[in-house]
Amino acid sequence: MTLTTLKDALHEELKDLYSAEQQLVAALPVLAASATDPALKAGFEEHLAQTETHVKRLEQAFQLMGQEAEAHTCQAMKGLIKEGNEIAGEQAESTVLDAMLIAAAQKVEHYEIASYGTVCTWAEMVGLDEIKELLGQTLEEEKATDEKLTSLAEASVNANAE
Ligand code: FE
Ligand code: FE
Repeated sequence: MTLTTLKDALHEELKDLYSAEQQLVAALPVLAASATDPALKAGFEEHLAQTETHVKRLEQAFQLMGQEAEAHTCQAMKGLIKEGNEIAGEQAESTVLDAMLIAAAQKVEHYEIASYGTVCTWAEMVGLDEIKELLGQTLEEEKATDEKLTSLAEASVNANAE
């Protein structure tokens, strides 16, 4: 298919995100199970619930574009999750493992922040304000998660790992 408009690009990016979020729904329980710090474990579980909402918002966004919800395998998320799973399977001190899990999770959040930032900008440019509002909520949640991970790392996990 030839992509001719920014709206086509937006549609493609939604497919990538739809795949990415679905992959995360499957992967977050593994990270939660591997984490030792109770706050980190709870954080992963909480973000799983948010991620399920992210999937639903993307379905709404497809609807607002008059399209069927469709996933296009996000290779980047596949790689990031693979790294997370490798860390989860590592022999390590629990505090060190927690610090590494946070690092892996923040790479995921930064990927999502970049993608949602892009779709929000494009949605606004093509006049799809409802999509901008809807996915802007997700963008804020991804940013908040990233900040929470930083706080967790600074507060306990990194100190314990030293
Ligand atoms: Fe998400
Ligand atoms: Fe996220």
